[in-house]
Amino acid sequence: MKVAKFGGTSLANAEQIKKVCQIVMADRDRRLIVVSAPGKRNKEDTKVTDLLIAYAERSLAGEPTEEAKQAIFLRYREIVADLGLSAEIGQAIEAELEEVLANKAGLSTERFMDAVKAAGEDTCAKVVARYLQSLGEVATYINPKDAGMLVTDEASNAHILPEAYAKLATLREREGIVIFPGFFGYSRAGDLVTFSRGGSDITGSILAAAVEAEVYENFTDVDSVYVVNPNLIANPKKVTEITYREMRELSYSGFSVFHEEALIPAYQADIPVCIKNTNNPSAPGTMIVAERGAATNGVSGIASDGGFCSIYVSKYLMNREIGFGRKLLQILEEEELSYEHTPSGIDNISVILRERDLTEEKEQRIVERIRRELFADDVAVQHSLALVMIVGEGMRQSVGTTARATTALAAAKINLEMINQGSSEVSMMFGVKAEEADRAVIALYQEFFGGEEPVVSSSSQAASISV
Ligand code: ASP
Repeated sequence: MKVAKFGGTSLANAEQIKKVCQIVMADRDRRLIVVSAPGKRNKEDTKVTDLLIAYAERSLAGEPTEEAKQAIFLRYREIVADLGLSAEIGQAIEAELEEVLANKAGLSTERFMDAVKAAGEDTCAKVVARYLQSLGEVATYINPKDAGMLVTDEASNAHILPEAYAKLATLREREGIVIFPGFFGYSRAGDLVTFSRGGSDITGSILAAAVEAEVYENFTDVDSVYVVNPNLIANPKKVTEITYREMRELSYSGFSVFHEEALIPAYQADIPVCIKNTNNPSAPGTMIVAERGAATNGVSGIASDGGFCSIYVSKYLMNREIGFGRKLLQILEEEELSYEHTPSGIDNISVILRERDLTEEKEQRIVERIRRELFADDVAVQHSLALVMIVGEGMRQSVGTTARATTALAAAKINLEMINQGSSEVSMMFGVKAEEADRAVIALYQEFFGGEEPVVSSSSQAASISV
């Protein structure tokens, strides 16, 4: 049995949905199908999830909502009509959607927002099931509550509860094709809660683990994962096979082709994940697996992400002071900040944080406390950093990767603010000024993968691949 998940661009209109259904019907093992909400039809378009969020915000603010609501209905009406489904089916689906949008009474802001957001996937799953039925298939829409998708009660950030797996496993026994809406589950108390944005990938991974799928196919709009952001390099090399750990490192640092959290269930159950293209399903795609043969030059991908800052702390004889690190990190914990990395020297340590988490007020308090409570000699905060990562299982075996990387960066006249090698030796990270990140990525690509011409990029940050 295969679990196949289709992303928003794969379901953006009737034409795309037809492709999805052809793909599903072409392989009888594709029996559990996870769908996102309809995504963008073109660059300027708006995803249905974003239309739903705009609607919920207006409704919560007490502003007129009619126009926002009609924009949502219009998307589905067009899809239903272009799929050739009957007016009754369209009306029945729309009535259920309307009920969710109108049902605000007694719900907290977060609950209402989650319920409205989830309606994008839920409605889409009903449409796809109806369309498959119209083609003569045995296909059923299933509600995540009935299926047992039990999650934690954290609004817009749910996580699967371990006890969910036993019931979800029984989906194996269902007849025909099951269409499962992605992106949400239900708390123990029975309330709807969504995963974080892009969370349909997570639903697919959970289901693949639960039914012990042969493979979790994740259909998107690119032929494969590329070794570097294709907005920076024209025709970059494709990744045919990559490990869970490598993919985790790359998604962390800007590869948005697959949700960061979505790897966990598949990884724990050792289910291979295959990234494929709905618009070109015969392309082999990228396999994400537990083990693979090492890449010849040791590097399997290069990525970068901006929006970091570092708190540099120095104190003479820091290395001998028991508890210094703990006290430093405790200050951050008390400010409810999670840290990303802590590269250190003998008498100094830097803590790298996501900039969006550090308000000006928090920054002042933290700096002041480090000075006063830890008697630091020097504390300095540096903003607008980007982390450039080279990732590869093969780096452990190959000698000289750092030398090659730093030589290439030096030749491109890029000043390194920080170097950090992950303890697992799967990745190496360079802190650079945000405006230099793209040039750094291009220089590293040319060093490790050859000399394709860079494409001109207007953004200073590596733009992510759309899902
Ligand atoms: N539709 C949701 C979002 O846009 C979830 C998903 O597409 O995976 O975030």
